[in-house]
Amino acid sequence: MALLKIVKENEDLEFLRRKSSEVTEITPRITELLDNMIETMRNANGCGLAAVQVGVLRRIVVIETEDGLFELINPVITKKTGEQQGMEGCLSLPGKWGITKRPQCVTVRALDREGKEFELTGYDLLAKAICHEVDHLDGIIYTDKAVRMLSAEELEEEE
Ligand code: ZN
Repeated sequence: MALLKIVKENEDLEFLRRKSSEVTEITPRITELLDNMIETMRNANGCGLAAVQVGVLRRIVVIETEDGLFELINPVITKKTGEQQGMEGCLSLPGKWGITKRPQCVTVRALDREGKEFELTGYDLLAKAICHEVDHLDGIIYTDKAVRMLSAEELEEEE
């Protein structure tokens, strides 16, 4: 496995704005990418990572919360209910945090690394992470949706 370089907003915002295309065949390169994305996410202490964030424009997402580790290929959100408001950050925007409104519960349909379709329903942090990562696949960054960003003073208080 290998650590991948994370695309940062201040270095290549244009790339992060691009739309990712569907995975049509799960090749060994795709499963290797999944392994490397998981390692990269864990190394950066993140709870989610989309392939676009490591320079690959494919609809692939990894998420890890206390609910477990999830690999989503071609994810499609099929249901959103409720609402939560809270802090949100992104490995591509280090040092920034914002307050966002997200659904409290999200159901997503995706393929696993064997190409088998499955459905995942997540609440709270997992719901937020699913929305955040699926947005990345369409070039959307959480700051687009943030109610507001935290100020420098607030960021200091968080530390
Ligand atoms: Zn992100």
